[in-house]
Amino acid sequence: MGGDVERSEGGAGERKVLQAHALQLKAISCCTVSCSQRDSRVHCGCQVSVQKCEASLVHPSACVHAQPEPFVCMQPHNLAGLFPSAPLDVLFRDPSDRRISSPQPQRVCRIPPPARGKGHSPSAPPAEGCYSLSPLGLGRGCLLSQAAATPHHSTSSPHVVLHRSALFCIKPHSTPRFPSSSMVHGQGGVKFQNWAKTYGSSPELYFQPTSVEEIREILDMARQRNKRVKVVGGGHSPSDIACTDDFMIQMGKMNKVLKVDKEKQQVTVEGGIFLSDLNVELSKHGLALANLGAVSEVAAAGVIGTGTHNTGIKHGILPTQVVGLSLLTASGDILECSESINADIFQAARLHLGCLGVVLTVTFQCVPQFHLHEVTFPSTLTEVLNHLDDHLKRSQYFRFLWFPHSENVTVIYQDPTNKPPSSSANWFWDYAVGYYLLEFLLWISTFVPSLVRWINRFFFWLLFSSRVENINVSYKIFNYECRFKQHVQDWAIPIEKTKEALLELKAALENNPKMVAHYPVEVRFARADEIWLSPCFQRDSCYMNIIMYRPYGKNVPRLNYWLTYEGIMKKYGGRPHWAKAHSCTRKDFEKMYPAFPKFCSVRDKLDPTGMFLNTYLEKVFY
Ligand SMILES: Cc1cc2nc3c(=O)[nH]c(=O)nc-3n(C[C@H](O)[C@H](O)[C@H](O)COP(=O)(O)OP(=O)(O)OC[C@H]3O[C@@H](n4cnc5c(N)ncnc54)[C@H](O)[C@@H]3O)c2cc1C
Repeated sequence: MGGDVERSEGGAGERKVLQAHALQLKAISCCTVSCSQRDSRVHCGCQVSVQKCEASLVHPSACVHAQPEPFVCMQPHNLAGLFPSAPLDVLFRDPSDRRISSPQPQRVCRIPPPARGKGHSPSAPPAEGCYSLSPLGLGRGCLLSQAAATPHHSTSSPHVVLHRSALFCIKPHSTPRFPSSSMVHGQGGVKFQNWAKTYGSSPELYFQPTSVEEIREILDMARQRNKRVKVVGGGHSPSDIACTDDFMIQMGKMNKVLKVDKEKQQVTVEGGIFLSDLNVELSKHGLALANLGAVSEVAAAGVIGTGTHNTGIKHGILPTQVVGLSLLTASGDILECSESINADIFQAARLHLGCLGVVLTVTFQCVPQFHLHEVTFPSTLTEVLNHLDDHLKRSQYFRFLWFPHSENVTVIYQDPTNKPPSSSANWFWDYAVGYYLLEFLLWISTFVPSLVRWINRFFFWLLFSSRVENINVSYKIFNYECRFKQHVQDWAIPIEKTKEALLELKAALENNPKMVAHYPVEVRFARADEIWLSPCFQRDSCYMNIIMYRPYGKNVPRLNYWLTYEGIMKKYGGRPHWAKAHSCTRKDFEKMYPAFPKFCSVRDKLDPTGMFLNTYLEKVFY
């Protein structure tokens, strides 16, 4: 399951949601439950399209009467019959109004509940928006009865002004019931949190589809109800890129290996497969991914969504391993994409930010399975920066960890080997000390920040001051312990700026004794590529990851450090990791990415209504 998902206490249990049948009828909507209301229906004098949603589905005997003449008949007692216990939302939209498909959040207006049984006259509610409505007799008031009972041209009924071709959508707040023909089930009351518990959201409905048809159904429903959709993989992104309060699709059940082409050494998988499962499957076929990030509890489509990277100057970021993918777009079409088919969309979708559609499948170029020999040894910042090229040449997957407030560096070489696995891992040092003691000491340091300098030096001396070697199958070496919850920033700068940028960060820390930085600053490298939104677009890059832990979930002040680092990264032409913290907006990205306009035009084409946007992405595109 992606991220952390909880059901809130007050959650109404599982919601079964059926695709809202988008019958746009010039019609009246009524129900046979209280057909007496038909007598009181009122000719509104305007064309009314009724988007019939769950209303008619909740009660099997509900019906829609197509009429030659347009009528609106939505009296609360009818609705009470349809929704015996649920308050309702009524979406009132004019389809000719472009705002219906606007990425802006819909305007919501709650009609104040009137005195029971007395009708109501709230002052001038907007004619469009989302109206809260309760069935009569249930104590929360009602609204449409008076409006419906009043001719449209009457000014005495301000509650519902029926525009020409207005669109109604009735949506229960809680526990709707749907007929058994429903294919897709959404849960309400689910709380989503990312791995670091730094961001979360409460999606109105949370889906775990098992087929493309179900996803299509969810998108249909989202379209009809003007909802946004976020697809989530492992929920590991440290930012809010995967958050939404509308519909969330967790892809954990779309996790199959679809095809292994041994000759081409390629594998096609469903987008929701975790790399941890894929690694194991590949090794059964004698294959492996050429590079991986620090964790594998992340989804295939998720890692390419944010441009996950590791290290190795001969290796690109993970999306460079993608040779094909398929995308279910907002319109419900499936697009196959590769270098030769839909080539433009492919270059955009290899690092898609989750905003182009639902990534259904991904095809990775693999390599023969291999073992890695990891050698970790101590060094100094001066030595490493002065001999950076040598280190890069000496080891295929070279990276180093710098311990801020000191000269200390740990160098990590990882290289293919034929030797059998051997490990020097030790639970006491790796976990009892490296995890639990560190967390405790960092928590103490929240009261005495100057301790951080001492902690950084002490742990270097304790854990990293001697040479350590490990050999294992590649993915077990690529993946490493990221300890406890944390805030991170990780920008890519041109590789030739590594030394200047790092020395400037070191100097800034020395010059500001009050600014503290947790260890490590992790420095990794990646080859240039041609992926439009890749931080390595057309340049070999150095990624510089800074971290501030959250010992026992406690936030440690980091603003100064964050801003100083960001300023240095921007000065050296940096581009932020898409999954991690940054304060950039569209203006910044336009400067950073030469192909940004191309990406925007693909996005506009594939998702003109902004169905796949959220708050994070609005900052990127608006
Ligand atoms: C402990 C830890 C270690 C990490 N190590 C590294 C590292 O070494 N290198 C690195 O670069 N990053 C690293 N990250 C960041 C991580 O790799 C990225 O955040 C990655 O995107 C997470 O994958 P996910 O499946 O959890 O994606 P999510 O966070 O679930 O989603 C990421 C994006 O992809 C979209 N998405 C997911 N699935 C789909 C789909 N099927 N269709 C359309 N859109 C989809 C989401 O909407 C979102 O926009 C780390 C994060 C953590 C918490």
